[in-house]
Amino acid sequence: MEYTLPTKIADYAVGGDGYDLDYIFSKVFEGTTCTYDDIIFMPGYINFLPDKVDLTSYFSKHIKLNIPMVSSCMDTVTEHSMAIAMAQHGGLGVVHHNCSIEVQAHEVQLVKKYRNGVILDPIILTPEHTVSDCLKYKKEYGFAGFPITENGKLGEKLLGIVASRDIDLVEDPTTKIKDVMTSENIQTVSDKMDSAEAVELLRKSKVGKLPVVDSDGNIVALMSRTDLIKNRDFPMATTDSQGRLVCAASVGTRPIDKDRAKALIEAGVDVLVVDSSQGDSCFQLEMIRWLKTNYPQIDVVGGNVVTVRQCKHLIEAGVDGIRIGMGVGSICTTQEVCAVGRGQGSAVYFLAKYCSQFGIPVIADGGIGNVGHITKALCLGASTVMMGSMLAGTEEAPGKYFYRDGVRLKKYRGMGSLEAMEHGSSQRYFSSSHASMRVAQGVVGSVVDKGSLRQYLPYLVQGVRHGFQDLGVKSMTDLNEQRKDGRLRAEVRSSSAQVEGGVHNLHSYEKRLF
Ligand code: 5GP
Repeated sequence: MEYTLPTKIADYAVGGDGYDLDYIFSKVFEGTTCTYDDIIFMPGYINFLPDKVDLTSYFSKHIKLNIPMVSSCMDTVTEHSMAIAMAQHGGLGVVHHNCSIEVQAHEVQLVKKYRNGVILDPIILTPEHTVSDCLKYKKEYGFAGFPITENGKLGEKLLGIVASRDIDLVEDPTTKIKDVMTSENIQTVSDKMDSAEAVELLRKSKVGKLPVVDSDGNIVALMSRTDLIKNRDFPMATTDSQGRLVCAASVGTRPIDKDRAKALIEAGVDVLVVDSSQGDSCFQLEMIRWLKTNYPQIDVVGGNVVTVRQCKHLIEAGVDGIRIGMGVGSICTTQEVCAVGRGQGSAVYFLAKYCSQFGIPVIADGGIGNVGHITKALCLGASTVMMGSMLAGTEEAPGKYFYRDGVRLKKYRGMGSLEAMEHGSSQRYFSSSHASMRVAQGVVGSVVDKGSLRQYLPYLVQGVRHGFQDLGVKSMTDLNEQRKDGRLRAEVRSSSAQVEGGVHNLHSYEKRLF
């Protein structure tokens, strides 16, 4: 006989089936700030496999992700390699802004150029460029195969194409491209050809790059074989309407950040994150209003906040998403130094509930220390989680590995650490560059090598899927409904229940994650 699932609150035995979140947060915790480890969720009924769990969610009003995971805008976490890998797996990377405007815009460009079904703004060289120029571009962009036109511009007559095999064995790096490029019988594809046909042509041809030309022989785009293969490998990728990876970037709240935002938008950024440690300031509200007035097509995420009052101000200013978390990051000392903040569990629950009335997605930022915390943040109402320490040890994070006491590590630092602030991030913490004394709100540390994100992120995703299966929840939509109508049940964990819930009573053990 088919088991009938309880669908009404009345069907749950009070206490015997745990409690709904409203009861826990307003009655049990009343006045106590709590976080992920303080609660545990009750299992639901399983009638589906983890692979069937749909984790599609929203980062901001218009930015839809296939997995609810985002890499933090920190200079030891997200530059182009991280942003590319996150987007390829269906998440999102927020490129940090602790660098010049030019450098950040270039990082965004690298993400936007990386995986194009059709490259609309290919790098084009002139016949006067040299082999050495080609090698330099190859190193910088990670690919070779450049079309050649008279002035190196799109829309001009295609004169030739230069590929790795044309330059590999050239001994003199000053050799001009015109002397090595292939200029006869270049395979091209017409801009009138339907895209599926063009992809089929590229698939069948042996070439790495296929220029797209108009009826006068002018190059208008470029198709790439590597991109085709990459597309095949990442069916979940977060892409824009032109098939390019979606990329986010952070900006500050100073007047100069308006120039930064402009440059990032020109570089193709899809969503901007206004980055402050305390988001309820006249500076941030003015920045959000300016961005929404001048670039209404770009989603803007505000934060960080932990109270409903702060949220209200950001929503009134016009944000499309809100970042939650103050002083809860693994490298933060804000709560210790400034005496403000909130337990991340309480902050996410109350703010997500408030923001859901306005259709504004919230990002649970900071304090994620294991895969269970991701599931808990989503259960509490977050649409996505933002992670720093969880991702900083992967190959795709900036920086080099080093060894200490035989352990392979990578540096991970708070953006409010003195070291990062000396590099420019002081403004996130309202510390003027002329201040006689800076007050640190973060530390410099290191994290253990996690290998490539290509293995680590699928582990996190599968872990969350297993969590959803145990909860008897099939999707983010299902989760949100169950939380709202009270079917999602939880209990507070006593400190001894927390000990019991972890590995205990062993002499030693090895913790392998996947
Ligand atoms: P984690 O995932 O490592 O626990 O936390 C990362 C988050 O901590 C970031 O996304 C950011 O919101 C926050 N954060 C980064 N650096 C600092 C810092 O130096 N001080 C504080 N208070 N927060 C930081």
